[in-house]
Amino acid sequence: MQIKKGIPVSPGVAIARALVMDAEDQPIPRRTVPPAQVPAELKRLDQALADGSKEIEQARVQVAATLGPEMAKIFTFHLGMLKDKQLIGDIRQAINRDRLTAESAVYTTMRELARRFQAMENKYFREREGDVWDLERRVINHLIGHTRQGLRELKGEAVLVAHDLTPSQTASLDKAHIKAIATDAGGRTSHTAILAHALGIPAIVGLESITSVISAGDTVIIDGNRGLVIIDPDAAQLMEYRQDIQRQAVSDASLDSLARLPAITTDGVSISVQANIEFPNEIAPALKKGAAGVGLYRTEFLFLASETQPTEDQQVEAYVEAIHALNGKPLTIRTLDLGADKVLDSANQVAHVESNPFLGCRSIRLCLQNLPLFKTQLRAILRASVEGPVRIMFPMICNIMELRQAKMILSDVAEDLEEQGIPIRHNIPVGIMIEVPSAALQAKALAKECQFFSIGTNDLVQYTVAVDRGNERIASLYSPAHPAVIGLIKDVIRAGHRAKIDVSLCGEMAGEPEFVMLLLGLGLRAFSVTPPAIPETKRVIRSVSTTQCQRLARKVGSFDSDREVLNYVRDEIRKIIPEALDGRSIEV
Ligand code: PEP
Ligand code: MG
Repeated sequence: MQIKKGIPVSPGVAIARALVMDAEDQPIPRRTVPPAQVPAELKRLDQALADGSKEIEQARVQVAATLGPEMAKIFTFHLGMLKDKQLIGDIRQAINRDRLTAESAVYTTMRELARRFQAMENKYFREREGDVWDLERRVINHLIGHTRQGLRELKGEAVLVAHDLTPSQTASLDKAHIKAIATDAGGRTSHTAILAHALGIPAIVGLESITSVISAGDTVIIDGNRGLVIIDPDAAQLMEYRQDIQRQAVSDASLDSLARLPAITTDGVSISVQANIEFPNEIAPALKKGAAGVGLYRTEFLFLASETQPTEDQQVEAYVEAIHALNGKPLTIRTLDLGADKVLDSANQVAHVESNPFLGCRSIRLCLQNLPLFKTQLRAILRASVEGPVRIMFPMICNIMELRQAKMILSDVAEDLEEQGIPIRHNIPVGIMIEVPSAALQAKALAKECQFFSIGTNDLVQYTVAVDRGNERIASLYSPAHPAVIGLIKDVIRAGHRAKIDVSLCGEMAGEPEFVMLLLGLGLRAFSVTPPAIPETKRVIRSVSTTQCQRLARKVGSFDSDREVLNYVRDEIRKIIPEALDGRSIEV
């Protein structure tokens, strides 16, 4: 038995066998399989070698025809290597004797061969080192391709273990089979983490080396409440966690009974608790949890989850589906927030490779530089708007010109539609995300030119404290409790209210019970949270008064470090709801 600790990003407990997924271009971790799986690994190896040989033979024929037989010789060398008895024997032995997975065996054996070539006196052999690397990747790609295929075709239940997952990979996971996620990389508010939470899949990220510790087929317990991965648990632990799963189901059911009750503080102040969603099919479960509407619809996931760029009609369809599902409750549609960690795969890629993608051409910047893409989305939103109450929200606004430009494009699009006789809703509220410090500092000016703010603390924290939100190595520096962040939130809420516009907060912070009192005390009256967090958020709101929260906020204002803030807000919420933070990791 072994226990590893990471960053818990989606609560819940799961027990299942591990499915380990490799990432292309990552070092292949040394992993073993149970003895019974050795023949299957040997078969995978044979298949990958056969597929690799076929591919090289095709390349050889093609190059011989176009560039001549001399050039094609290199492929003859590759083919020879893939049939080399010594090399293949060594790889098979690594599987048979050391019980390595096929890809670990290929990786270890061929790396060793490359090193031997490099150390040779003979220049011809030294130069063959690159060919060995090339071949290794080719064979491993065939092996990993099969693993990926396996992920889609998975029949039983599994815990998915991976170096990292892209948001689109996470979005396409089948909850019926993937019971939990554990990754080497990632931080608390990486989009993979957010999605896992929205899907209700327990997840732990930032485990650094979990892919080299867990072997395919190992039994693992994922404790998403405490951030623990228990590998090969003993009988006592299994029993304890099975009881935990049952207890959790009972407590979820009692929290869910809050769904029908209003979010009102004990002194009678009504608070709006809305949902953050990525896909329209999340709305029905969010309403069941008690959502008063959707405060953030991350429309980029429509793009991330499809092979080709969604057409205008496909977008209209998605937005109408969301509006109908809400049945009169408001829908805040955020325009495309692509770029940074949300990049499109292959064919529909619109972003370029950048060395600083979080500071690069992402989000509204990308839309303003790709007008056909932006206008198509705005047309789709306006066409769908006749079906129910929508609001349009622009992300990542960092100066007033961007807001003006975006609004101008929106009115151009509206005008075009009217000229074409296509009906649209008039007076749609237009708002912006406040998630960049420059926007937070200029909130007063921005508030004069839009109808609402939504504070995006996931990004606001990363840009204020200069901490990449997805980097596990600096995850402890990523803190919404940083006094600088709290100061910005306070100023934005005040600027919004002075200008008489709505202010909500849709970063993950809004759904963390320890921050609800602080945010209420700072004057926030609208929260938008991941759907599973709605009942708990409501429970806190219904247990406190605004005066009590204001007192707490004043006290927080006197602290200089995030540690003091966090300890204080956690102590206070525990006094009111002792079980509010149950099972949560308590270190800063
Ligand atoms: C945020 O930045 O806080 C936010 C809600 O948006 P996202 O997580 O999609 O960047
Ligand atoms: Mg953001």
